[in-house]
Amino acid sequence: MSFAQVHTRSVIGLVAPAVTVEVHISQGLPALTIVGLPETSVRESKDRVRSAIINSGFDFPNRRITINLAPADLPKDGSRLDLPIAIGILSASGQIDASVLDDFEFVGELALNGDLRGVTGVLSVACAIKSSRTLFVPKSNADEALQAMDAIVLGADNLTQVCRHLNAVCGMGSADDKLAPTPKPTKKALPVYALDLADVKGQHHARRALEICATGGHSMLFKGSPGSGKTLMASRLPSILPPLSDDEALEVASIYSVAGVAYQFGVRPFRSCHHTMSAVALSGGGSRPKPGEISLSHHGVLFLDELPEFDRKTLEVMRQPLEAKEIVISRANSQVAYPANFQLVGAMNPCPCGYHGDPSGRCSCKPEQIKRYQDKLSGPLLDRIDLHVHVPALPIDDLQNAPQGESSAVVRHRVITARQIAIDRQGKANSELLPSEIDRFIPLGVAQKQLLATAQTRLNLSARSYHRVLKVARTISDLAGEEQVGVSHLAEALSYR
Ligand SMILES: [Zn+2]
Repeated sequence: MSFAQVHTRSVIGLVAPAVTVEVHISQGLPALTIVGLPETSVRESKDRVRSAIINSGFDFPNRRITINLAPADLPKDGSRLDLPIAIGILSASGQIDASVLDDFEFVGELALNGDLRGVTGVLSVACAIKSSRTLFVPKSNADEALQAMDAIVLGADNLTQVCRHLNAVCGMGSADDKLAPTPKPTKKALPVYALDLADVKGQHHARRALEICATGGHSMLFKGSPGSGKTLMASRLPSILPPLSDDEALEVASIYSVAGVAYQFGVRPFRSCHHTMSAVALSGGGSRPKPGEISLSHHGVLFLDELPEFDRKTLEVMRQPLEAKEIVISRANSQVAYPANFQLVGAMNPCPCGYHGDPSGRCSCKPEQIKRYQDKLSGPLLDRIDLHVHVPALPIDDLQNAPQGESSAVVRHRVITARQIAIDRQGKANSELLPSEIDRFIPLGVAQKQLLATAQTRLNLSARSYHRVLKVARTISDLAGEEQVGVSHLAEALSYR
């Protein structure tokens, strides 16, 4: 009987726990058994592995092969185990020297012809492996794996390349067969955003609101007619946000890696969702739970256009993550948590036709239709939105004659300065202040308290909205570089209710 042990990883959420592939080859009727969670994909793996081994010119042992995936109680998903299983079989049958296997970890799907295909979650794997080990991945995953700065990564096109490299390392083959580690990507200072705020002409009120929103990490709702530029502005929010820290960028990249979605490293995400989107697409889920849009927006912007058209159930899935900054997806036998710390930006028309209040008088909606449309948004969700901003449609003449707006770089500079004031004071953005911290970090004078008392009666503010006004006022005072929240800061914050 012969035996081999190969190291690999499963991926559960963003965590990549170690998995050992143990291969026993013994006398007996030819058979291949995989134990330790025979999920459909693992079973399919048998056929791919057998075919890939034969088509790569190796012998497939005509014996009893038992493959144990340990630990047994750990869920193992996907086809990422193909490569380690093939390596284990080749090693246990003496076609690869087993002595070097402890220095490597392997992930990758095999095609029937032996080619390696990319898999999801490779970045989580690369972040988890011990630095003493080299990680073998499909070549198409190599750049993604290297975003984990400490990892040593070898990208291979096919099974043959992996085997030749392993044999070259232990002196069994030609030294020319050794693969060179994939070079580290060069780090860019600041990511480049394709969309710039300079494209937004006029709209001083909305631009100002966007700057406040970026500085404090506040959520906002744009209200205006079609063509007023709501989407134009929302999509430029990432370009004025402070740059992601290395840890934040890695976290975002890991989510995209698990979701199998392309991601430009270091860029703040902007995800635009249509109201036909299902609750699962927004929250994440499926039999092997994948991150949804709220996690793909982590550390970035989730933009929901035509907010009142969304199904109420779909919007409800956001309520808990808006507070907890993560979403827990429960399955029959497991739970997966994905981060979901996103900035919510919504947009809506003022009425069903979109032109209520427009100077053109095009709107033909009846008052009760308008009320029903606006009432579609639940109070609790509206309560969670810090800034409500009216975006008027500008007459064509105004647009043509308006000078170009300030660029994103200029605005971002102010945002970074003001955000730093908040960080120095309380260690976080103003939107993240807890109710218990508000008195301490947002002290108010007599005049400020009077203004708030009047406003609270007039606007019928809930306790939650009241706190939101205070946090927005704090951000406005930070932008002004003032230590105290003044009456004018509060008045401006109230104007966004
Ligand atoms: Zn209308």
